[in-house]
Amino acid sequence: MRVCRSFQELREFLNAEVEKGLTIGLVPTMGALHQGHLSLVQKSKQTCDITVCSIFVNPAQFNKVEDLEKYPRTEEADLVLLESGNCDVVIIPEVADVYPAGYPLVSVELNGIDVVMEGIHRPGHFAGVVQVVGRFFEAVKPQVSYFGDKDYQQLAVIKKMVLERKFPVEVIGCPTLREKSGLAMSSRNLRLSEKAIKTAALIKEQLDWAKSNFDFNSIAQIEQIVRKVFESHPDFELEYFEIASADNLLPVKTGSGKVRAFIAARIEGVRLIDNLAMN
Ligand code: AMP
Repeated sequence: MRVCRSFQELREFLNAEVEKGLTIGLVPTMGALHQGHLSLVQKSKQTCDITVCSIFVNPAQFNKVEDLEKYPRTEEADLVLLESGNCDVVIIPEVADVYPAGYPLVSVELNGIDVVMEGIHRPGHFAGVVQVVGRFFEAVKPQVSYFGDKDYQQLAVIKKMVLERKFPVEVIGCPTLREKSGLAMSSRNLRLSEKAIKTAALIKEQLDWAKSNFDFNSIAQIEQIVRKVFESHPDFELEYFEIASADNLLPVKTGSGKVRAFIAARIEGVRLIDNLAMN
């Protein structure tokens, strides 16, 4: 496995591979890797000749300094995991390499996908995501890039960005990997106590409950019941629970069309998000 510390080093390696006609798959991550990340690497390996995983904790997408500082960093273990998954190349660039002085801030029209849910609770977050993913697409020039359904709104934002900026990249959404309890795997779970990890299983339980009651209750009723469960729970602070269109992420009143439930809640101060298709 090749580990590159700069885009220049990466390009020197990849140019030779591209000349041989090999295809490149990119898996962008912020490190603290787990099996969910590795499943994206496996997906890329099934289709692409060379799989590049990027590890970069992107300052531009954190709206709270504290959240950025507390973001887990486990580079040594990440490299061991990626090696075990036969990842071909890892790129771990410096901030100055990703955002060189004078690099223009690119803004993209996202048609409102960025101003609901995460967009409300993390102002500026998607502007930072668009910035960093665009930069990695320019530097790595992948034919295909893999993202998790776990961050479904992010996936929608990236698909829209690719259309707007006309990147020649196919964006593939991949299923969420979960712990046995149903808790979505997340780098942030590393910051939770054992007790909180057990309690956090309630998130997926409630998403499952919403799904199994979807045909029998109104969307407003389901939202009200689930919100109440979290709002009356001593360990959770609910940010939002919304049932929305899977296409434009706007709230829906009826279950016609593809619909998903989305949740963000804090436990022990750690912000967890999850979502599930309702139909
Ligand atoms: P992150 O390092 O959290 O920015 O995540 C990097 C990529 O891995 C994103 O596309 C995430 O959606 C994806 N990802 C994170 N958690 C999971 C999971 N549990 N299952 C599948 N993909 C995931």
